[in-house]
Amino acid sequence: MMLREERERIVEFGKRLITSALTTGSGGNLSILDGARQLVAITPSGVPYPEIVAGDVVLVDLQGRAVEGKPRPSSELPLHLALYERYPQIRAVVHTHSVYATTLACLGWEIPPAHYLVGCAGRKVPVAPYATFGSPELAANLVRAIDGYQAALLANHGLVSIGASLEKAFHVAEEIEFVARVYLQAKMVGEPAILSAAEMDRVLEKFTGYGQPSAKSPS
Ligand code: 13P
Ligand code: ZN
Repeated sequence: MMLREERERIVEFGKRLITSALTTGSGGNLSILDGARQLVAITPSGVPYPEIVAGDVVLVDLQGRAVEGKPRPSSELPLHLALYERYPQIRAVVHTHSVYATTLACLGWEIPPAHYLVGCAGRKVPVAPYATFGSPELAANLVRAIDGYQAALLANHGLVSIGASLEKAFHVAEEIEFVARVYLQAKMVGEPAILSAAEMDRVLEKFTGYGQPSAKSPS
């Protein structure tokens, strides 16, 4: 089996999408780009995460041509491929329907830095304009909106995060769901204070050296 390790990682993180309450059923999708082989491993369309096994994870080339794996790939394949084409340094894409991020996406609200962990995505979390799921228009809207960020909301739909690895992109999705929840809850009872651009400069700088010397930054 080609890209066995990457496909097993997709299976594992698919289960984590459910256990971390980042999605339900078969909502959302995950992919990894193998930079050397220029192949993408992506979740199959419409299969509940607990049922996916490594052989179900579909391999496609960067033009979307099937290479290995029987099932039909995620309906959001155009969005994943558009991100890898426009941002060649990224190696993973995570798409979720997590409840709080999706609530803000349905309001069309971007997420300002009310909590410093917005910094995992950048200075804010922008919103890509609505287009039908799986459409090339949605892919184009997202590629434009996410420029300069590690995550963006999809209006009336959900969240997408990107990263240098699946672990990093997943971590961004988890943190952005947390800040979405905090921001929404704060808005329900008052007007949250927003951190200044200068403070976000400091936060983003500190993220580069965060954690243990051998560990990676939170973004
Ligand atoms: P797939 O099951 O085809 O990946 O679709 C889920 C989804 O979230 C569409 O936006
Ligand atoms: Zn979706």
